[in-house]
Amino acid sequence: MTRALLGCIADDFTGATDLANNLVRAGMRVVQVMDVPNARRAGPPQASAHPLGGQRGHEVPSVGAVLQPLDTEADAIVVALKSRTVPKAEAIAQSLAALQWLQAQGAAQIYFKYCSTFDSTAEGNIGPVTDALMQALGTDFTIATPAFPDNKRTVFKGYLFVGDVLLNESGMQNHPLTPMADPNLVRVLQAQTPSRVGLIDHSVVAQGEGAIRARIAQLKAEGVRIAVVDAVSNADLLRLGPALQGMPLVTAGSGVAIGLPPNFGVAPSHEAARLPAAHGLQAIVSGSCSVATNQQVMDFIKAGKPALAIDPLRIAAGVDVAAEALAWAEGHVAHGPVLVYSTAEPSAVRAIQGKLGSDKAGAMVEETIAAIARGLVQRGVRQLIVAGGETSGACVQALGITQMRIGAQIDPGVPWCHAVAPDAADGLHITLKSGNFGSTDFFTKAFAQWQA
Ligand code: ADP
Repeated sequence: MTRALLGCIADDFTGATDLANNLVRAGMRVVQVMDVPNARRAGPPQASAHPLGGQRGHEVPSVGAVLQPLDTEADAIVVALKSRTVPKAEAIAQSLAALQWLQAQGAAQIYFKYCSTFDSTAEGNIGPVTDALMQALGTDFTIATPAFPDNKRTVFKGYLFVGDVLLNESGMQNHPLTPMADPNLVRVLQAQTPSRVGLIDHSVVAQGEGAIRARIAQLKAEGVRIAVVDAVSNADLLRLGPALQGMPLVTAGSGVAIGLPPNFGVAPSHEAARLPAAHGLQAIVSGSCSVATNQQVMDFIKAGKPALAIDPLRIAAGVDVAAEALAWAEGHVAHGPVLVYSTAEPSAVRAIQGKLGSDKAGAMVEETIAAIARGLVQRGVRQLIVAGGETSGACVQALGITQMRIGAQIDPGVPWCHAVAPDAADGLHITLKSGNFGSTDFFTKAFAQWQA
């Protein structure tokens, strides 16, 4: 490593990419790894639920695993975990394993990244993981703020706003896994930790580094260990950044990342986002049923481009839908991008879930799309868009991708990435688009970026 390193632990997969994207835009060269490299898998697979109702098998890396060094230079490394909604003991074990590995890579500061809507269950996991990381790092103070003004998440007087409304009026109060009924983050976090939680409010943040550092000293003297920080603009986050220099642990959404790279002597540059030149065939696989993805699929079809719908009932009936899709794709993919999708409107998804069960339907579709993604890469696809958070996880796993270098953003939160995979030793460009991200023409625009 050529520089002091920022080591990041993200509590979910697409959130990790979102953080990596912000760091790259601020000039850092970033590598994202999936789970802790070479971590020995412990115990039976653990279930983790998905908003659409599924339960996914999920394995937990254990502390004390054989640690594999990173094989490429980076200013920041993001370890993508799946610890947001697992039981807190598992979340702690995963996070500590990630910490240990990041320390072995030379990380000088640790960034625990969670959702910008502070998604947590009644028992955490933001508080318990923060406490465990603080203890492991031997530190007695950290901050907590999900503020991400670019995405309309702002914190004022400790209250989290999503757009123009408080968190508990934003729809997050009805989230199936992490309902957020209280917008006051000091209260929410205090309920998750025995550590005393305080506030660095906007009047302090507005005055900049000196005032923030003075407030931190005051809070520490009062016995506060974690301070929620107000931020309503990127300017606030840029004022906060210098005050975090030397803090062993920062906990935040992805927003705080924009202010940290200068602490490591890094300035924005196109170099940070540079990936190898794109080559090979182009394809899109989509298992996301979110509103934005439905529009993106329609847009691609309306443009007259080749698209094939996957029917979950035919998968359930035992038809080899993946083989069919690959045979279809072979006839089209040489001429331009192809789309294979299970994306459907909510009523159609409910009908399928009613017949198959949401868990079974989700798992079957994910498995099929992942097999198609792998088959496409085996047939020469080297530019691949995957739509859907869970779908992305399944595809990355099927492709055997363990680390990716993060490139330029296509749309906010969605960068192109580059990975070497067993079926693509010459390298593969891949972008993982979580449900509601991306403009309507995303499936066309993403490939056009290489011609720009
Ligand atoms: P998003 O990021 O939009 O939430 P995900 O990939 O995380 O997308 O989740 C979508 C889930 O819905 C996956 O488990 C996927 O397998 C499942 N799914 C996709 N298409 C269908 C369908 N037509 N019917 C039922 N479930 C589906």
